[in-house]
Amino acid sequence: EAQKKERQEDDRTPKQLPKGVVLGPDGKPCRSCTSFAAWASMTKQQDQRPTTTFSKQIASTTPTAPRPDCPPDVDQLGRSTWTLLHTMTANYPERPSPTQQSETRQFLSLFGKMYPCWVCADDFRAWVKEGNEPRVSNREEFGRWMCEAHNAVNVKLGKSSFDCNRWEERWRTGWKD
Ligand code: FAD
Repeated sequence: EAQKKERQEDDRTPKQLPKGVVLGPDGKPCRSCTSFAAWASMTKQQDQRPTTTFSKQIASTTPTAPRPDCPPDVDQLGRSTWTLLHTMTANYPERPSPTQQSETRQFLSLFGKMYPCWVCADDFRAWVKEGNEPRVSNREEFGRWMCEAHNAVNVKLGKSSFDCNRWEERWRTGWKD
């Protein structure tokens, strides 16, 4: 019975993964590392070998947008995480104590190890190592450093850079208009 189940599960694994699907360290597709579109095309590929009427129905109803109550894809996770990180900088003291500075460095170091999109985490750690150690001696420095970290990802993804002179307007004070 167990072998039969394993075979059935194996049959559902696509032989070729669609572009953009990133595997996790366990060799299985990593949802937190993959966009919703790539994930949906992978599940569609699986469902396109239907053996039952039910699975045919699933294949014909593959959604084009994620439901809000589904596990996050790489983009949703990224947006939520940047919101947390920039808001942390916005609430960082203007004159942090040595302990606050040291705890902030520790947080960033663990963040770089534990961020669930492992490819993102690897690149973040590499960027820090390339002469971009966290600057946490005051709020302005920390906010700017985070903005630069975010811009490094924007550039990697082919997006335009954010003007770091305006990080505080975006994340702390609101826009001057
Ligand atoms: P986001 O980039 O999530 O930005 C959210 C909002 O922040 C924007 O609307 C804008 O108002 C503001 N903003 C943009 N840039 C800046 C900035 N420089 N400073 C301040 N505010 C800014 N995705 C991948 O596909 N591959 C990766 O390797 C990858 N690495 C990541 C690493 C980390 C540490 C994190 C937190 C996320 C990573 N992501 C990665 C996710 C990616 O950065 C985006 O979150 C995702 O692509 C969604 O982008 P978005 O256009 O909705 O806006």
